[in-house]
Amino acid sequence: MKAIVVEHHGSIEELRFREHTPLPELAPHQIRVQTAYCGLNHLDIWLRKGGTGDKLTLPRIPGSDVVGIVQEVGQGVRKIQVGEAVLLYPGQGCGLCPACIAGRETMCPEFQIRGYHLDGGYAEYVTVEEQCALPIPADQLKLWAGVPVSYVTAWNALVTKGQLKPIDAVVIWGASGGLGYAALSIAQAFGAKVIGIVGSKNKATFLQEQGFTGDIIIRSEDLLEEIKQLTHKRGVDLVLDHVGKQTWNISLKMLTKGGRLAFCGITSGPKVETDLRYIFGKQLSIFGSWMGDHQDFMEVVQFLKQHPQALPYIYKEFPLHDAQEAQATLEQGDHVGKVVLNVSAS
Ligand SMILES: [Zn+2]
Repeated sequence: MKAIVVEHHGSIEELRFREHTPLPELAPHQIRVQTAYCGLNHLDIWLRKGGTGDKLTLPRIPGSDVVGIVQEVGQGVRKIQVGEAVLLYPGQGCGLCPACIAGRETMCPEFQIRGYHLDGGYAEYVTVEEQCALPIPADQLKLWAGVPVSYVTAWNALVTKGQLKPIDAVVIWGASGGLGYAALSIAQAFGAKVIGIVGSKNKATFLQEQGFTGDIIIRSEDLLEEIKQLTHKRGVDLVLDHVGKQTWNISLKMLTKGGRLAFCGITSGPKVETDLRYIFGKQLSIFGSWMGDHQDFMEVVQFLKQHPQALPYIYKEFPLHDAQEAQATLEQGDHVGKVVLNVSAS
């Protein structure tokens, strides 16, 4: 099969297009999915660059967000049928440990992510356990390719751990990117007061054009003052921060007493200095999300079927062999929403 393979960590040239990558064998409880689209995530870039501290082995096919059509099913497969359009949960636990038994796969010592620890969707076919797949509408494949990592992470952070409520005031950093847009859409559909933070006027305009009715702040020195005004000096109940170094302390300052900080990314760097008085003085709760569990996946898929207006915005699609250009677009950061590979057209 055709696939993009990372054989060595490094620059964007390490994304190699290969015509004849071996097709993985199909075990009795597995299905083989013909990839239609694969959404891109920063995780794909970390895999390619390496050096994250995670245990990674190469060669590896990137791509965590897979949608496609079931092409073949193993003998033991019971529910999924050939020809169905499916979306795949991007994680996999051992299935046996206390965390897995409790439905918290992401806390499993052997938790793996497709397209990072396991081969992913920058390929014509993906072979997975049947329970990873959920049926989705066959006429919306491209849109759903933006869902798995971003929406499962946003759901785990905001809803499962963050206990998002309609009466909450919620701040979303980087609100026009893949994860931020997912969080913004979910929080708006919940009926919360949502404040999106973006880096430029163009990105603010984009959110308004997409029907976002909450408040938008463009990043500046006055950001905290603007949040004060928007919340009548109270501060916000819940912040989703996935930027890290540049935003951490501002996030702590903007929270009201008893506020919650959901943290799930470090795109600006991992090390910060914290004034601990904010945390105990305001009795803040801080929690991290590393993607989300299988149950988060099932819940957010159901939620999106009921609230299709919250589905992702697809910024641009590239054919499989242009994966280098696709990752460069993501890395530049000028995009809004999701970048996807159109694998079936390749
Ligand atoms: Zn486990």
